[in-house]
Amino acid sequence: MVAIKYTEQHQMFRQSLRKFYEKEVVPYYKKWEEEMNVPRSVWKKFGSQGFLCPWIPEKYGGSGLGFEYSVIAIEEMARADVGIPFGLHSDVVVPYIHLIGNEEQKQKWLPGCASGDILTAVAMTEPSTGSDLAAIQTTAVKDGSDYIINGQKVFITNGLNADIVIVACKTGNDEKRHRNLSLIVVDADTPGFEKSAPLKKMGRHLDGTVELFFEDCRVPQENLLGEEGKGFYYLMQNLQQERIVAALGSLLAAEKMYNEALTYAKERKAFGRRISSFQANSFKLVEMATEIEIARTFIESLINDHLDGKQISVSKVSMAKWWTSEMANRVAYHSLQLFGGYGYMEEYPISKHYRNVRVDTIFAGSTEIMKTIIAKELGL
Ligand SMILES: Cc1cc2nc3c(=O)[nH]c(=O)nc-3n(C[C@H](O)[C@H](O)[C@H](O)COP(=O)(O)OP(=O)(O)OC[C@H]3O[C@@H](n4cnc5c(N)ncnc54)[C@H](O)[C@@H]3O)c2cc1C
Repeated sequence: MVAIKYTEQHQMFRQSLRKFYEKEVVPYYKKWEEEMNVPRSVWKKFGSQGFLCPWIPEKYGGSGLGFEYSVIAIEEMARADVGIPFGLHSDVVVPYIHLIGNEEQKQKWLPGCASGDILTAVAMTEPSTGSDLAAIQTTAVKDGSDYIINGQKVFITNGLNADIVIVACKTGNDEKRHRNLSLIVVDADTPGFEKSAPLKKMGRHLDGTVELFFEDCRVPQENLLGEEGKGFYYLMQNLQQERIVAALGSLLAAEKMYNEALTYAKERKAFGRRISSFQANSFKLVEMATEIEIARTFIESLINDHLDGKQISVSKVSMAKWWTSEMANRVAYHSLQLFGGYGYMEEYPISKHYRNVRVDTIFAGSTEIMKTIIAKELGL
């Protein structure tokens, strides 16, 4: 667990989350995975207990708690060994509304986001562009008091259940491409807005990942978040917290896989010996333990700085994101190897973790994009 100074109130929050997962999620998880969807009622129950967006101020229907409660929520989901995009909603998408939305927008959407009545997604990526965000083609053109949106988005997490989607649209033709983006909130039942069925993926089957289609989709201009043309800037600003959350997720996955491999290697015998006693394997386990310790120290320090409201450099967050996600994939590879043939069997959780963690080096900014950002900051 992250070395944050937790109080009794934090521990109570943790215990109730733990109970929630044990009672309301774990027994049904396999069935939901087969159906590729989590019932809405689960989101509502999660929200009614104050677990969704616990940081939303009380005046907008939240509990007014700090980011450490989000950390606890992420840790408890990992502990329960389940994956539902609660964190994407609470710590990635809804903060846009809180940070750049106007008073009216906050009053309109935040209470529902906290209760689970309004689920959210953020749509940047398009079929022809992901890393190069400024190249998006989805347009929002002004018409009277509306925008008319045309375009397509892909790989949108929680898009399946989202009631509102924050859509990155091109609203200008400035030579500086970064000045052309705006963020517009689209209601899921707006005519001209369609969702695909959940995309079949190698892992993370409950993320509700879909494609989104916009055809002459008319949205009131009052749904613009922040200022027109500043979308790229807002996205970069918010991606900082998203990447800390992503790095923490990779770390927790690495810890889980390492612990499973350690236990197995101490029990499994070959040539009359425990497989952990072969030096090749013990060194592998030692290397994993060391890398996990390094990641934990680094990420804890970033989380603590974030909690203290300190400005964290973009480089540091990018370093944490790329290095931890690559490390988790190394751990996945070597942990599964220690399980031998059993590691390849579906009934062994390591096979699921191996698949799930693969995307960590790709989404929320790929390893290569993180390195590009760091290289720029280093003046290279
Ligand atoms: C499971 C999943 C969930 C996702 N959820 C969301 C979501 O909720 N919302 C959303 O908007 N998007 C989402 N994405 C999209 C994700 O953010 C993109 O896939 C990612 O940013 C990469 O974009 P791309 O797939 O278009 O790859 P590309 O940009 O085409 O990149 C392909 C490869 O080229 C590399 N590359 C690109 N540019 C450079 C460069 N300058 N230098 C070196 N290498 C480079 C990349 O690192 C990558 O390895 C999700 C994706 C997945 C798989």
